[in-house]
Amino acid sequence: LPSKLPAGKTSIFSVMSSLARKHNAIDLSQGFPNFETDRKLKELVYKAMKEGYNQYPPMNGIPELREQVVAKIEKLYGKKYNEASEIIFTAGATQALYCAITAFVHPGDEVIVFKPAYDSYEPDIKLAGGKTVLIELKGEDFKINWEELEQKISSKTRMVIINTPHNPTGTILNKEDMLRLEKLLNNTNIILLSDEVYEHLIYDDAQHQSASKFPGLAERAIVCASFGKTFHNTGWKMGYCVAPEVLMNEIIKFHQATVFCVNHPMQWAFADYLKNPDHYLERGDFYQQKRDKFLELMHGSKFKGTPSKGTYFQVMDYSAITDEHDVDFAKRLITENGLASIPISVFNKDGKDDKKLRFCFAKTEETLEKAAEILHKL
Ligand code: PMP
Ligand code: GLN
Repeated sequence: LPSKLPAGKTSIFSVMSSLARKHNAIDLSQGFPNFETDRKLKELVYKAMKEGYNQYPPMNGIPELREQVVAKIEKLYGKKYNEASEIIFTAGATQALYCAITAFVHPGDEVIVFKPAYDSYEPDIKLAGGKTVLIELKGEDFKINWEELEQKISSKTRMVIINTPHNPTGTILNKEDMLRLEKLLNNTNIILLSDEVYEHLIYDDAQHQSASKFPGLAERAIVCASFGKTFHNTGWKMGYCVAPEVLMNEIIKFHQATVFCVNHPMQWAFADYLKNPDHYLERGDFYQQKRDKFLELMHGSKFKGTPSKGTYFQVMDYSAITDEHDVDFAKRLITENGLASIPISVFNKDGKDDKKLRFCFAKTEETLEKAAEILHKL
């Protein structure tokens, strides 16, 4: 049978992680922390299990967690979602993205994606029969070219996907960017899919500019979030999305058909844990220290990069070392030097490389030190 995803080979994250394991390499490739999630949070999950929350929760999530998250969004971004009809919990942000894309993209529709882009958008668009229209983020700071966006919006454009803070580049959209986008989408029926999984991992006193903050965006936006990134538990695969009721009414059908509902005891745990805002507000400082440590350790090496503004990734240029293609160089770094990273070209459709690697700094100081020691020798 013909494959529905002919280009859907094993993701670079699995490839690099398994190569890293095979060669016992220091792993700064796939984005996950190598330290533990808060013990209090784990205990809350166990408490909920002991209390008997071990069967299906309501399809859209327990009311206690919906209330907490809706209140958090209102406090941070000033937008009040209806907790009964405008939020659902999903199997990581990945499932929220899948439901959002497949619910609205019809065969022949165009979806605008900025490249380099996280790797799950394109397969979802393809499965829905849509066409991905790419816009490259260029230059050292990977800014959106607004004229190009304006030109590429057509009568077929169904959706625009943004991601801030941005994986893999570590750039962020600022207030002016969001206002510009709001103006561009005004008077269209284009849906905005806003991937905000790194909302709390933002540095140097910058404010996260959520699509929900801007009324002209919020009215058309599906905002996707992930607890995994904020609370150091990517393996729990807990996420959510919020959207105006008319959009959520459709998304929820796809949620129902894919998983129906997600982990019940974890929902109770997060409902309790989110009552203390420090648990998410202090993540920016926590990861900024890690970023600064990594950059300080890399100082004096041949790798160069502008400091990441958000996410737990730092992109670095290695052109002073070799002109090898980034995938070859990244593989050789694992097999010969024992250090795993992610080559940036895999986020570009044509595989074009700019001699840049992505390093995940969500690691213990000891791991970062060992990594830097290896990288200094190159
Ligand atoms: N979007 C981006 C930009 C990501 O980096 C990730 C993490 N892999 C996801 C979505 C998916 O998040 P989750 O692990 O919660 O499914
Ligand atoms: N978000 C993770 C990263 O960018 C990868 C998650 C995955 O493997 N799908 O490294």
